[in-house]
Amino acid sequence: MSKEGRETAIGHLDADCFYVSAERVRDAFLNDKPVGVLGNQGACVIAKSYEMKGLGVKTGEPIWEAMVKCPEGIYIKRDFRWYEVLSRMMLDLMRDASRRVEYYSIDEFFFRAEVGRGETFEGLARSLRDRIQECVGVPVTVGIARSRTLAKLISDASKPHGARAVLDAAGEERLLADLPVTEITGIAGRRAERLSAWGITTCLHLARADRALVRRLLTASGEALWWEINGDPVQAINCRRPAHKTLSRGGSLGEATDDPTLLYAWLVRNVERLIEELRYHRVAAGRLKLVVLYKTGHSAVGQRTLALPSDRFDVLLDAARPCLRQAWARGATATHMHLIAEDLAPPGQAALAYFDPPDRRLRAEAVARVKERINGKVGRFAVRSAATLYLPAIYADAANAYDICDVRDKMCF
Ligand SMILES: [Mg+2]
Repeated sequence: MSKEGRETAIGHLDADCFYVSAERVRDAFLNDKPVGVLGNQGACVIAKSYEMKGLGVKTGEPIWEAMVKCPEGIYIKRDFRWYEVLSRMMLDLMRDASRRVEYYSIDEFFFRAEVGRGETFEGLARSLRDRIQECVGVPVTVGIARSRTLAKLISDASKPHGARAVLDAAGEERLLADLPVTEITGIAGRRAERLSAWGITTCLHLARADRALVRRLLTASGEALWWEINGDPVQAINCRRPAHKTLSRGGSLGEATDDPTLLYAWLVRNVERLIEELRYHRVAAGRLKLVVLYKTGHSAVGQRTLALPSDRFDVLLDAARPCLRQAWARGATATHMHLIAEDLAPPGQAALAYFDPPDRRLRAEAVARVKERINGKVGRFAVRSAATLYLPAIYADAANAYDICDVRDKMCF
């Protein structure tokens, strides 16, 4: 019960097959069809619609296996920035609806659920679900309970498009009796085996087990889960979205190569993509790390600490170049490259003239502004470094041209 005499509980809201639903928001043609969202370079399915799931396609499956099971499927390259746009819209709506909201993942939120006289938690769950559907266009499932762990179990069990509140002991017992203990986040593999040796295989078994035994088997984190599934909320709702510790760009090189010119072109491409990300999250990189993976299975790392955190192309490229020299193995065939920004800091810290003469800084910032404005207006990579000209296939690819639609601050369908 809250101070104002309102009843409180904990809610969990989770989008249903989020990446697919996000694609459907901007293309209704995909509704009711089997849709798979593909990872970097289109090698594997990272999300699938319920229609595709029904045909046996699994998350993480290579595209060629998925296409055997579901030849009629529509396979789309993932677009995390679009998903982030929708995720932020959902977060804003959640914050309107609740005073405490935790951004748990791109499509999952925990929140404090409150109802006044004459209202029910079930009604609140339904209205939240419908509001997100109406304003964002994404189907979600909502569970409300006495603790986070129970709320998540309820929403997981009510998918898709469910809205359910369980707050009474009998209802909780029925819910827990039906669910294997591995449905609880944080109980899998060895921990599940340890429990099963004591006959604890369902969530209800765990709730009824001796607390000291659970602590012995699963340490303090397991005991916390025991309290949680018994309706005692011991895990708080964390309202601050954790800041990114690192940001990275890269992935498969498509066609493996031992040509240093091509590797340099990839490096420049990844620097440009990383800068987009840094600017989006309003941070600057204090350190760059480059990882190159080779066909032989080994990988090499190059790294550089910057004199000052930066999100500027000239500065980051100056730092990335020696990283590539360090990570490059002459004659070896590279398959993947990852460029990682670390020690992230707020941008725009006072520049030290010694490292960064003002005329050079002003020119570079002016160029960056022009580039950003043109690309914002015309499309990603409309203006890009000439070093990337060695990768014509990447920029001419129809799947990448799709990215041009992906202009920040605009709704493009
Ligand atoms: Mg989800």
